[in-house]
Order: sequence, then C-alpha cells, then structure tokens
Amino acid sequence: MAIVRVALPIPLPQAFDYTAADAGVGDVGRCVKVPFGRGERTGLIVGIGGEAGVELARIKPVLHIQRGVPALPADWLELVSFVARYYHAPLGEVVALALPPGLRRADGVSDEDEDPLLGVAPKGGEALCAARRASRALALLQALAAEPGPWRRSVIRAREGGEAVGELLRRGWLEIVADPGARHEAGAQPLATPEQAAAVDAIVGAGMRFRPWLLHGVTGSGKTEVYLRLAAHALAQGRQVLMLVPEIALTPQLEQRVAQRFAAANVVSLHSALADGARSRGFVQALSGRADIVLGTRLAVFAPLPRLGLILVDEEHDASYKQQEGVRYSARDVAVWRGRQRDVPVVLGSATPSLESWFHARSERYALQRLSRRAVAATLPAVRCIDTRRTKLDEGLSPALHVAITQRLERGEQSLVFLNRRGYAPVLSCPSCGWVSRCPHCSANLVVHLADRRLRCHHCGCDGPIPHACPSCGDQDIQPFGRGTQRIEARLAELFPQARVLRVDRDAARTRSQWETLLDTIAAGEADILVGTQMMAKGHDFPKLTLVGVVGADASLHAADFRAPERLFQQLMQVGGRAGRGALPGEVLIQTEYPMHPLYLHLAKHDFDAFARMALQERRAAGFPPFTHQAMLRADAPALEDAVEFLRHARRLAEERAPAGLRLYDPVPMRMTRLARRERAQLLVEADHRGPLQAFLAEWVAVLYRQRTARELRWQLDVDPLEV
Ligand code: ADP
Ligand code: ZN
Ligand code: ZN
Repeated sequence: MAIVRVALPIPLPQAFDYTAADAGVGDVGRCVKVPFGRGERTGLIVGIGGEAGVELARIKPVLHIQRGVPALPADWLELVSFVARYYHAPLGEVVALALPPGLRRADGVSDEDEDPLLGVAPKGGEALCAARRASRALALLQALAAEPGPWRRSVIRAREGGEAVGELLRRGWLEIVADPGARHEAGAQPLATPEQAAAVDAIVGAGMRFRPWLLHGVTGSGKTEVYLRLAAHALAQGRQVLMLVPEIALTPQLEQRVAQRFAAANVVSLHSALADGARSRGFVQALSGRADIVLGTRLAVFAPLPRLGLILVDEEHDASYKQQEGVRYSARDVAVWRGRQRDVPVVLGSATPSLESWFHARSERYALQRLSRRAVAATLPAVRCIDTRRTKLDEGLSPALHVAITQRLERGEQSLVFLNRRGYAPVLSCPSCGWVSRCPHCSANLVVHLADRRLRCHHCGCDGPIPHACPSCGDQDIQPFGRGTQRIEARLAELFPQARVLRVDRDAARTRSQWETLLDTIAAGEADILVGTQMMAKGHDFPKLTLVGVVGADASLHAADFRAPERLFQQLMQVGGRAGRGALPGEVLIQTEYPMHPLYLHLAKHDFDAFARMALQERRAAGFPPFTHQAMLRADAPALEDAVEFLRHARRLAEERAPAGLRLYDPVPMRMTRLARRERAQLLVEADHRGPLQAFLAEWVAVLYRQRTARELRWQLDVDPLEV
C-alpha cells in the first residue's frame, strides 16, 4: 500500500496524504481525485512513499489516478514548487493555476495534432511522374513539390488553390509526416538590419546557454524579427521555444506571423481565453514535445517543455505579466528562473524596459542588446508640450490640440487623444504654485480619500484632513488631479461633428473579435479621432495615425504610487511610437502644467536612458525597489476595522520575528478601499536584501496560517507588489 502526497487547490500550505493500492513512482506528477471533507477534489501527486503525517489507518484512499495523460516531469514540479516558495502560496493553488482546468477534470486529453504536418507521399510522387490530365489537385501537388516541405495543413489551405488539400489526402498523394525533425526551414524573411543581425549573432554566439538578455529596441526597431530569427535557430537544433506576450487579444498579428514564418512548426497558443479543450490540448502538446513553439500570455510560463531551448518575453515591462489576484506571480521573473533552471537563454524585449530590468542590464546581471534605429525608414515622432497653466481648457482640451486635430481632419489623417487613466491616484495639488501634498515622514505623496475627506500616506500610514486652501500660497482652487477626463470623448464629438470619433478601451474591446474589428476599422481609415487608454499604447501599426494628444498625464507625475512616473514614461513613449509609423511623420502633443518637468524633456529627446537614470536615482534616494525589496500583506473584510485589526495583529506577530533591517509599516486602507462590497487594507514590509525578507516571510506566513480569523476575513501576500 503506497502513500501518495497530494497538493490540493485549497488555501492551506501543506500537501495531504492518501493511500493508493497500485501507485508507483511513475505516478508522481499525475492528477488524482481524492475525498476531501465531505466532497471530492482533484489535485496533483507530488510525492510517493515516505512517512505518513498521520496513522496509516486514518488515511483515506484515493478515488482515481488519471493515467491517460503523461505525468508532469520533475522539472515542472520544481517550477511550481519554486513559485509556491517564492510567492508563499500553497503548492496546490499554484498547481491549480498552472494546469489547464480541463486537464484536471478529464481523464485523458488527446494531443492529436489538429493541424498535421503533411508531406508528399510515394503515391504523390508517382502521380507527378505519370502523364496525367491537368486538374486542381495536380496543380496544387506540383506547386507543393516545387518547394521544400513538409507543410502544416492550415498553411497549404491558406495558399492559392489550397482548398484541394483534402482531395490530395484522399487520393493518398499527401500523407501525415510524423516528426518534422530538423526540417524547420524559416519561410520568407526580410534581410536583417545590421543591428538585428548583431543582436542575433551575440545571443546565438553566447551558446544558447542560460543568460538573461535585455533587448532594448526603440518602437519599430524590429524586435519581432530578432525573436523570429532566434526561434529559427532553436527550432533548427530541435528545441522548443516559449514566447510570452502581454495580452493575446492584442497580438493576433504576431500569431499569424509566427505561423507563416515557421510553416512546418507546430505553433500552440496558450492563454486564458481559450476553451478548456483547446487549452488542455495545447498544454499536452507542449508536455509531449509535439509543440514546437508555445505562444502565450503569462500563464504559458507554466507550459511543460521537455525540449525547451529558448524563452522570449515580449514587452517585458508590461504590468500584465504580474498576476494581480490569487497567486501573485510575475511571469517575467518566473521566466528568468525557468531559463536558469533549464539552462536556456531568456530574451526580455522592450522599447521601454522596466527599471528593474534596465538596472540589471546596467549592473551587468543581464546582457544588453540595443536596437537604436527603426527598421523601416521612418523617423521617431516630434514630441512637444502644451503649457496649460495659462490656457483655458474646454472639457480638458487645449486650443492647441484643437488646432492640431483640425489640421489632421483636413489632411485626412488620424488623431489619437490618449487619456492617462492608469496610475491615476488622486493626489492633491495646487494649480497656481505647483504644491503637491507630500508625506512629512516619507518621500511618498499623500492620497486623497474623498469618502472620509482625509489625506493619507500609503507608505507609512500617517493621515490628516484635506486642507481647504493651498498650504503654500493660499489658493482656494486646490483640487485632486485627473478631473474632467471622462467628458472628453463626448466633447470631441460635439466639437468635431464631421469626424468619426472612435473609442478604444477595454470596454469597447472586451473580446478578441471586438478588438480585431476595432483594429480593422482603424486600419481601413474608417475613424478620424480615436480616444484611447493604455490599450492603444501596445504595439500596433496605424499608418494614417499622425497625431497623438496626451491628456491628464500630470496625474502620474505626482501619483502616490512610486512606479507611476515609470509607467507614464513607458506609456507615452509607446503611444508616441504609434504615431508616424507609415510614410507620414508623427507628432505627439502633451498637455501639461509642468512643461519643464525632466520626464517630459527626456521624452521629447526620446532618451529612455536619461529618464531611467533619473528615475533610478530618485528610487535609490527614497529607498524604493529595485534598491529595496517589498512584500505587501493585504486583508479584506466587510468592515474596514476588521481588515485593519487583522493587519495590526499580523504586524505584532511580525515584530517578534523581524530580522534586523526589516521595516514594517502601519496598516493603511487601500487606495481603492472598497471593492466588491469588501473593505481592503494593506501592510507594507520592506528589506534591503531579498534573502532575509524571504526567510522572514516564510516564517510569518506559517504563523499567519495558524491564526484564527473572523470567517469573513481574507488575506493574501503579494511579493514584489506592483501596486503599492
Ligand atoms: P518593434 O516590435 O520593435 O516595435 P516590429 O517588430 O513591429 O518592431 O517592426 C516594425 C516594422 O518594421 C514592422 O512593420 C516590420 O515588418 C518591419 N521590419 C522589421 N525588421 C525588418 C527588416 N529587417 N527589414 C524590413 N522590415 C523590417
Ligand atoms: Zn508617509
Ligand atoms: Zn499653492
């Protein structure tokens, strides 16, 4: 009678023991159904044999071990264990997150190739030699035979006359080819620019061993081409490629490009929008080694890849790599760990790297490759500030922006009015003297809480009433940033009745097909003025877009979140990169009350490095990451007091265990205190070094699990939080 150790998706840290009559070591890594409480649960066998935690007689037997799917390999179990350890999450919850839901339920998932690889069969060869009557089928066979194969069925079908592929199969002229082996010839590719070639040579030249690379390339520099060439190299060595993108809904073009370039490769998508069946099938194809390229969002970092040879992380700065609920992992950081584990290169690409990655590149922990020029002759857009201190705004729009939009309308070009919503935290500021509500105790800004009319520091917890006039100059017109942006869209439609105004944000593009429709509308020139939020900042080419007007940017200069300026710079650089990608030159106009702010000055020069140096200096002085390491304990309950009280208790428990150098702050209500009828509060923990912080967290979390808490209270730990 074997004892199996099972990780279950419940918020408890330990694994559970069960007995299984016929289990062997080969069952480690298999899904299993077990009795739990009064019901049943599906978990994963993570160990076998050994001492049971309780007496044998009291251990329940498993209900069913799922043997229709290959067991997950040891390196995959190490991966989920690492994530559980680093983020202090129960292993079973990490497993539940990493495994497709369909896989956990179904007993056997086919990894049948829906899109098989086809080659010319012996009968096809005969048909080519025999003098036959011309036909559609023969014409297709002849065309195929003139090229190096094999080909994916979908690729054949997409070509001219490709509908006849079914007939070729029926006649036995084409057959399914089992293993592509080394036949991964890349399809048509452009000539690499010297910078692209240098980047590829450097990364390949380093031996395709573990090394994190930062590929810092300006917008339009052709980072994708570098990824594709590196992928071709890995495929040629018979290895698998993992390619992470921030949001699959935004990247249908990329999927298509990859599939076209590697016609023979089995490209598998993995993201949460897939139907259960498709996601499980993709996962099992990765696991069985039949997938050559796995293209997916953050959860694809959990793909089991026996032949892994390369990891690519596109737009590595993007915040969507960080999961903001449940197990709060960063897929980018996990990808780097995965690369080290499997000894393969990890390429992090961005036009606007995260300050963390940029810092690592500066300190030579990451190797750096730069693409400083655009791949196709197009200049970077001109960036100018519109000083709004002395102008009267019309629902947030300046006369200068009005004029610029009118010009574009007359020329038949497109404009984008970009609203900076993200990073919007209501900080109090004075429009006449520029005073900003700062915390007297730390370098953070105080946040306006309108509900109870208080100003609060989210860093140290101190608070006070909202002043009625500016403490510096006495102006009574003191107000939270960010007012009035909501009405801009409506006002644009009134001001430009002849124009087609199109809103592009998460509400307008909830699904992938809605997003594709929007993109088509824009590309077809069927919109004149786009009003967009951060979605518009992500890599797309709009040839007719020549003007980007930025509204509400200042809110991020003085936001409470110390990452807000970084996000603003990234966003403006990315969104500016949308303008003038075609033959027409682009212009970016930023409405601001701080036209001389260094952030804008660096932006106007397209000088990311100067900005990054400045921002890192500020972070060093203020003691923010990457110079310190943070973790956030959050609690929520129907009543705020319960959440805060739990955190106070947690803080006392922490004080008893805190190593020297650990900083514990006071519990504070979150910026958005109320969410889904629950009140939320948080407690920040900081340390100069990761090691002691991690050791402390492990001990602290273990103690927290043992606390009796009110039934309605929930808590979570966020390691390396992005929102503070
Ligand atoms: P990035 O991701 O760096 O912003 P893209 O990969 O989208 O840039 O490339 C920008 C544009 O340049 C695309 O239209 C792409 O097809 C084109 N491009 C990239 N590399 C080359 C090349 N070597 N030769 C010609 N065109 C290229
Ligand atoms: Zn403070
Ligand atoms: Zn003032």
